Amino acid sequence: MMEKTIEFFENKGLKKIKEDDHERVWYSDFLEFVKKEEIFATLLTPSGYGDEDSRWDTWRINQFNEILGFYGLGYWYTWQVSILGLGPIWMSKNEEIKHKTAQLLKEGGIFAFGLSEKEHGADIYSSEMALIQQDDGTYIARGNKYYIGNGNKAALVSTLGKFTSGGGDPNNEKYGNYVFFTVDSQRKKEYELKKDIIATQCYVAEYALHDYPITDADILSKGREAWDAILNTVNIGKVNLGWASIGICTHAFYEAINHASHRKLFGHYVTDFTHIRIFFVDAYCRLLGMKLFALRGGDYMRSASPEDRRYLLYCPMVKMKVTTEGENVINLLWDIIAAKGFEYDTYFEMAARDIRALPKLEGTVHVNMALIIKFMVNYFFKPKKYPEIPRRNDVRNDAFLFDQGQTKGLSKIQFHDYNIAYDSVDLPNVNIFKEQIKTFKEFMTKATPTMKQAKDIDFVLLGGELFTMIVYGQLLLENTKIYNIEEDIIDQIFDFIIRDFSKYALMLYSKPSSTEKQMELLLKMIKKPNRDDERFERVWKNHVYALKDTYVMNK
Ligand SMILES: Cc1cc2nc3c(=O)[nH]c(=O)nc-3n(C[C@H](O)[C@H](O)[C@H](O)COP(=O)(O)OP(=O)(O)OC[C@H]3O[C@@H](n4cnc5c(N)ncnc54)[C@H](O)[C@@H]3O)c2cc1C
Repeated sequence: MMEKTIEFFENKGLKKIKEDDHERVWYSDFLEFVKKEEIFATLLTPSGYGDEDSRWDTWRINQFNEILGFYGLGYWYTWQVSILGLGPIWMSKNEEIKHKTAQLLKEGGIFAFGLSEKEHGADIYSSEMALIQQDDGTYIARGNKYYIGNGNKAALVSTLGKFTSGGGDPNNEKYGNYVFFTVDSQRKKEYELKKDIIATQCYVAEYALHDYPITDADILSKGREAWDAILNTVNIGKVNLGWASIGICTHAFYEAINHASHRKLFGHYVTDFTHIRIFFVDAYCRLLGMKLFALRGGDYMRSASPEDRRYLLYCPMVKMKVTTEGENVINLLWDIIAAKGFEYDTYFEMAARDIRALPKLEGTVHVNMALIIKFMVNYFFKPKKYPEIPRRNDVRNDAFLFDQGQTKGLSKIQFHDYNIAYDSVDLPNVNIFKEQIKTFKEFMTKATPTMKQAKDIDFVLLGGELFTMIVYGQLLLENTKIYNIEEDIIDQIFDFIIRDFSKYALMLYSKPSSTEKQMELLLKMIKKPNRDDERFERVWKNHVYALKDTYVMNK
């Protein structure tokens, strides 16, 4: 499937991909291919509902994510919102609709996730889509949804609403009225496709339901279960954004190194400039870091169970940290290829635009940061022993993802000791970073944020950035063992980790409310990476420059 997909895009060629992107041509050729090869049916139908090789296998889902990001975010988006739309369905107890969905997938159907509303953004509590009970016990749905990908063609749109007259659970004031139900986007009379609200190749719909008839057969979940289905679906879908970023950056990297290594200015190749080499090495290390972290996050996601919910920290980080790192990679590469990055014919021109979207979807960086901060105390002060998690590329249906249970109790989740990973490595830059971590821990005990600071989201978010760097480095290190990453590269990766950590420490230091003690410790956190010119040269020559002319997309 992966190879056929690559072949599909290489045959289509960059020129046509760009033309379709610019002309905003709906990707029916891709969806025809997906239908013919039954790709979504195979990858997105959990075991037991489809053919024998159908299973929800996060390992291969991540691969597919990366490939789609590599060729064009539009293709990725129709797949991504199908995954989101399928989330509440596969989590539902409504078996009939699950079997129907499996059949629709087999017929090439795509899906949509009708959560967001125009006026409410991240505030899902305020959703207004109404499900109104009728005298005969059926319902009608009435309301609007906004920002809904695939809303033009989806076979089923999983829509979040609220019971407004009967049907809800009066004993549960907070969650009792939530309900997830499905609607058919092709039912023209009651489903009004209002418009495409985004100027890209994707179709991001505003739709309205005008007394759309709903029966129990269309209802996926109610009350607390419906609420949990929102968050649990987003838990699954989040990591896809990190993988799309990885795909985009990888393709852009090849374009940049090919261009710069052949361009001669003032008698030298662009790749001879020292600053260009530094940008490239940084971009390479950041991209490798993104991959190592996301892969390791996938291991924990696939190993998750009611007893091991560590994935709830790592998944938002794949979403939030990996996608912002993606922006850093593209920024670096764009400074290298400069004007070329605007050209009609390059992949880069799409990459530079699309990379910005990923940190903003599925909850912004802030929303995800606000989430992971809840794990900070247990992460540092209450470690727990867990069995070692190996690389999880085994052939398996990840059933737990559709049975994650209630989304509460986050602050009770414990993590394995981060020192295990850090203490297993003795390299100059990793050792400097360990010093930074030690000071951060001291900061938390001896200069604990005041009540006022804890309420200041701006202050807290910066603390979250520092925390994130520590978890990022930990999982990345765990994976350097699994993937046998050379010491040179590990040390070079920690060069940027030290610099980023120092940057966030300085930003927190500069906050008007930081106290004397906090400032003292924050200054102590600012460190300079170990300079090793030979190591840098080896990474540049053996790993970065070596990628020159190794991949060019078929025109
Ligand atoms: C291209 C595109 C496709 C999309 N596809 C879909 C889709 O298929 N289905 C769907 O349901 N939705 C979809 N969305 C909607 C998307 O998920 C929302 O954009 C998202 O929920 C955030 O809402 P908002 O952008 O309106 O920001 P707002 O919610 O208005 O937030 C504004 C600011 O407040 C901050 N903020 C909000 N809450 C918090 C908090 N708790 N803590 C800290 N900061 C906070 C945010 O970080 C942000 O900076 C799509 C959006 C786009 C742009």
